[in-house]
Amino acid sequence: MEYQSFFVTPPATQWDIISLGGGVQSSAMALMAAVGDITPMPQAAIFADTQAEPKEVYLWLDWLEKQLPFPVYRVTAGSLADMEMQIRVSKKSGKTYKKSEIPAFGKNPDGSKGILGRKCTRDFKIQPIKVKARAICGVKRGQKNITVTQWIGISSDEMGRATASREPWSQTRFPLLEKDITREGCLEWMKAHGYPEPPRSACLFCPFHSDHEWQRIKGGDAAEWQYVQDFEKQLQASAEKCKVMRSVPFLHPSLVPIGEVEFKPAKAADGSKQMTMHEMWNDIKNDCSGMCGV
Ligand code: SF4
Repeated sequence: MEYQSFFVTPPATQWDIISLGGGVQSSAMALMAAVGDITPMPQAAIFADTQAEPKEVYLWLDWLEKQLPFPVYRVTAGSLADMEMQIRVSKKSGKTYKKSEIPAFGKNPDGSKGILGRKCTRDFKIQPIKVKARAICGVKRGQKNITVTQWIGISSDEMGRATASREPWSQTRFPLLEKDITREGCLEWMKAHGYPEPPRSACLFCPFHSDHEWQRIKGGDAAEWQYVQDFEKQLQASAEKCKVMRSVPFLHPSLVPIGEVEFKPAKAADGSKQMTMHEMWNDIKNDCSGMCGV
């Protein structure tokens, strides 16, 4: 697929702002800007914190901030985990209900599988970054002219995630697509410039993790693996309390509790390959906008 620029006007904007996911691609993009490999120099980067990233992502951000000549603003819409557990009461019917933020897999009463609604990317990534970008760049209410260029770290192996801005005051730019650089290419660039390897960024409990990723989390920090298992149990307990939610949520598509899943290797003995987390995001696309996992 050929990359088509989403610039709708000549780049005569006053503000270049990086949407920083805290993972490989957006970190490489920010560092490329810092050394002048991508121009112009952005005025700021914004990281939207779901408060559920692995510890190593926060440590990485602490390091990255010191390398960049522009400020990194960390913003949050609160704890995604807490929001996911919230049980609400309908004013109309008095019945309890809950909103599904994360794309958990649901086991229906007849045993079939579904995928629950996903709003987390919009509510916890896109929206907080939008609010902060407006504040930094002084975007006026009802503004129709483009004054902000938002840089998104989508690499050429994930081109399908690139979408145009929906805001009349901003346009989206994909510097890694312009450079035709893949995720692997970003890692090579980092290595060639003497930078350490960035961690993978995504919520610890993200149901989009591949088995390979789950296995990595399981084999990593014991407290984080316990957190994931506890999160799933609480998620199921909150769903049970909720009268209108009939399916049981699971983090893994096998509908087996995450602590009991036997994760498959990335490549099976018959040569078949499992989808990586990034391929899943590519596949799902809807409202993804390259805000998670880059
Ligand atoms: S990483 Fe997964 S759970 Fe977290 S905001 Fe993105 S899609 Fe949602």
